[in-house]
Amino acid sequence: MSRRAVVVGAGLAGMLAAAVLADAGVEDVVVLDRDDLPDGPRQRRGLPQGRHAHLLMAGGLAAMEEIVPGVGLRKRLLAAGAHEISLSSGMLARTPEGWLRRWRREGPVMLTCTRALVDWTIRSTVLEHTAVEVRRAAVAGLTGSAGRVRGVRVSGPGGEEDLDADLVVDASGRGTRIVPWLERLGLSGVRTRTVDSGLVNASRLYRVPAGAERFPLTIVQADPYVSRPGRSAMVMPVEGDRWLVSCGGTRGGEPPADPEGFLRYTLGLPDPIVGRLVSGAEPLTDVHLSRSTSNVRHYLDKVPRWPEGLVVLGDALGTFNPAYGQGMSVAAFGARVLGRELGRADRLDAPGLARRVLRGAARPVDAAWAMAVGQDVLYPATRGGRPGLADRAATAYTRRMTRAATGSFAAASAIWDVTSMRTSPARMFHPSAVLAALAGPSLPPLSGPPLTPGEREVLAGLDRAGV
Ligand SMILES: Cc1cc2nc3c(=O)[nH]c(=O)nc-3n(C[C@H](O)[C@H](O)[C@H](O)COP(=O)(O)OP(=O)(O)OC[C@H]3O[C@@H](n4cnc5c(N)ncnc54)[C@H](O)[C@@H]3O)c2cc1C
Repeated sequence: MSRRAVVVGAGLAGMLAAAVLADAGVEDVVVLDRDDLPDGPRQRRGLPQGRHAHLLMAGGLAAMEEIVPGVGLRKRLLAAGAHEISLSSGMLARTPEGWLRRWRREGPVMLTCTRALVDWTIRSTVLEHTAVEVRRAAVAGLTGSAGRVRGVRVSGPGGEEDLDADLVVDASGRGTRIVPWLERLGLSGVRTRTVDSGLVNASRLYRVPAGAERFPLTIVQADPYVSRPGRSAMVMPVEGDRWLVSCGGTRGGEPPADPEGFLRYTLGLPDPIVGRLVSGAEPLTDVHLSRSTSNVRHYLDKVPRWPEGLVVLGDALGTFNPAYGQGMSVAAFGARVLGRELGRADRLDAPGLARRVLRGAARPVDAAWAMAVGQDVLYPATRGGRPGLADRAATAYTRRMTRAATGSFAAASAIWDVTSMRTSPARMFHPSAVLAALAGPSLPPLSGPPLTPGEREVLAGLDRAGV
């Protein structure tokens, strides 16, 4: 399969799309990014969310390994300092229904590291193993017509120029201009839905204190069931012997950017463990705030007539509250759909190819959207959505399942399988899961985090807050 594909955006969706295009035999794959891409795992301007905690779920990692096979992405990430965390035993998690237990039995794992490391590992691996070319250029629009996209318009210092392509992939992230770009081609009527809980994320890096190297990932989740703003915090180990501490608060409960306020915020949560841990840790950066975290879904897959030659993947198709850690995995699932459809087509410009990819890529977006928005609509000051009957029914079941998970391995397993994105949310309705939810927790609730004696000592040694 020769000819040219142009990918807009060298983030995760873009680089994974480029990898599947190269693998399908497209000789000329050009990735355009307006950002200055660093030659290493460093934070960059075009990826402001990279300052905040990013969990790489097992399902997403598996899709990435399938897309870039034989190079051991997981091993590369671990060798660069990423941590592999067992959801069943390596995590302290306080849910709205209480603390989850830690089990001896194994469950799914996730990887934690900086977002910069994930991006760099994917980008450098794809560039090492394919002939994909990355160019610095800002895309200003599409060329062609409402029936067929024929390339992109690139704006540079010398003005605008057109770059022809048989297939264009928009992977330009949450700031995509895809709707106005399509309107300029004469395709209007794309429905966009925004559900905005006013979520603000605040993050800061710390040096892992001596002796705390093996302290588990710690998370105090937001509670959407109490008609108050959601507030959460997490301590996540990342490469370079650092903790990335991220707080998230919905409208009315936003975390502040000043260091004292940041610490107070973590201490004021229903359990102060995050604040107690970081009160004795050395900060390495300022607190960084991000506000652009509303759920946005462009229903491009529902447009009655979709142009040939245009595919949209990753955040450009839909973004969601990051609390569930789904976006990177959804980007990988979308690229995998592109790869599968390319495998079935004989030509890059095969009729209907773009539409099939779009519809396939929309499925995991919708699943992630349902999970994130189903929770966000419960917060009192959320704009763009109120809970309906279906949301209330789903909420009642999720609460019951979560309560069961505080003392039932079967219930906890169902939740881990879904949150790790190894299975679809339908797993929650598997007979074994329903039975576990109905039976409730077989063990009594925990009154505090399930710490080992050694971890209790570490926590006490770090605690300068005296809460
Ligand atoms: C606070 C926060 C925390 C998150 N936590 C998690 C998590 O724990 N786990 C998880 O899986 N996901 C998480 N996400 C979601 C994740 O960051 C995104 O889903 C993911 O980045 C999507 O990848 P992408 O390639 O679609 O977009 P991006 O990674 O945003 O890449 C888009 C690229 O396009 C480029 N670009 C944009 N416009 C143009 C243009 N006009 N021309 C050329 N280039 C352009 C940009 O420079 C950028 O490189 C989080 C998001 C936020 C905001």
